Amino acid sequence: MVERSAFRYPQGMAGKPPSELLDAAAPVAGDNLFGLSRQQLTSVMLGFSQPVYRAGQLLDAMYRQRVASLDEITVLPRALREQMAKSGWRISPPKISAAFRSSDGTERYLVACPDGPDGQTVETVWMPGGDGGEIGDGSADSDSTGSAYEADGEFGDGSTAADEPAKKAASARPAQRATICVSSQIGCAVNCQFCLTAQLGLQRNLTAGEIAGQVIAVLERHSVVVGRDRINLVFMGMGEPFLNYEPFMAAVRLLVEEAGLPESRMTVSTSGIVPGILRFAQEPVRPHLAISMNAPNDRLREEIMPVTRKWKIDDVLRAAAALRLRPREYVTFEYVLLGGVNDRQEEAEELARLARRSGLPVKVNLIAWNPGPGIAYASPQPGNVEAFQRRLIERGVPAFIRRPRGRDIYAACGQLKRTLE
Ligand code: SAH
Ligand code: SF4
Repeated sequence: MVERSAFRYPQGMAGKPPSELLDAAAPVAGDNLFGLSRQQLTSVMLGFSQPVYRAGQLLDAMYRQRVASLDEITVLPRALREQMAKSGWRISPPKISAAFRSSDGTERYLVACPDGPDGQTVETVWMPGGDGGEIGDGSADSDSTGSAYEADGEFGDGSTAADEPAKKAASARPAQRATICVSSQIGCAVNCQFCLTAQLGLQRNLTAGEIAGQVIAVLERHSVVVGRDRINLVFMGMGEPFLNYEPFMAAVRLLVEEAGLPESRMTVSTSGIVPGILRFAQEPVRPHLAISMNAPNDRLREEIMPVTRKWKIDDVLRAAAALRLRPREYVTFEYVLLGGVNDRQEEAEELARLARRSGLPVKVNLIAWNPGPGIAYASPQPGNVEAFQRRLIERGVPAFIRRPRGRDIYAACGQLKRTLE
């Protein structure tokens, strides 16, 4: 038997891996290396008669050192880099094309997606400080708002500063704490009535590299030291992750296995795509699950989230019950409060009953609706969010309020892209 690392190609086959080493999605022609799995990169390197460890070197360079071109990977022999480039292989991670800084420290980015037609962007957000309750066990610590982030004043509110990475040496500042909000699609097909991203419709799915690469670009911008800085990821940006399931999960694996970010600090949010939740429940490596509940019964939910016609609340909860939860792991219900629609005490009561009926360890994240142009809802009255939270807590359901971040830079989901393009 030929040892894989010693495998040699017949003349003229360089760059083309043998079919027995290909998984279904393995690339055969030169393409973007960023976003390929370890298995796919192994196939590519074997195609160049290289030992298997070269795939590990590529992964380390792309996801830990965060290089942006093949040329920067000097552990690869120059001749190999040239040969690869000649065959069309390149490293094209997503790049931040515009950045907006809010007075509260939140930064919002438009990120250029390399794997489709030029000029396509998605939104990614950096929120310094605590995680707003998305992550963890619902303890006070996981909802902390204390910030270890130092505003560096490099650019003013709302200014474009795409080329201004955090300049301070990472070692010279205290450990950072931040949450990165990641997009999974350009636009979204789900059509929730209160959501700005819905108005874009689905433009296209992102690739695994485009999803993982948003995170890598933001880590690099803030000189994050993985393992020291405490970074949460929330897959709650544009799009429905469970309608782009495979690239989304491939991105999670790259971020966990290659970038070294712990899955225990990641949360994915779904509008309730049942087949996606069922698949997700079987994943050995997976983020926490959040469900955008937004209403305590099917009638009201159908009004604001038409997807409920396809999958009822009980279907969604039954699917979520298939998860093998880790000790102290919660399933989050996200609940966007729409003034006069779903924000009354009776809805809080009903939501508490729903949480109990689910049999799941539920915590609720409340968020006041962020207004957006052309959407005829209202934000809740001052005090209603707190009253809703109080009622849930009285009924024994842990509930947290997620403060809207970066309002001055168009904070609502999808708003940045809508207002700039
Ligand atoms: N598609 C997935 C993840 C992206 S949306 C999902 O729906 O879960 C992430 C969260 O933002 C959802 O909980 C959604 O209900 C919420 N959201 C959408 N538009 C909003 C707005 N204008 N104000 C506040 N929250 C909003
Ligand atoms: Fe899509 Fe989520 Fe917006 Fe609904 S709330 S339209 S699922 S992005």
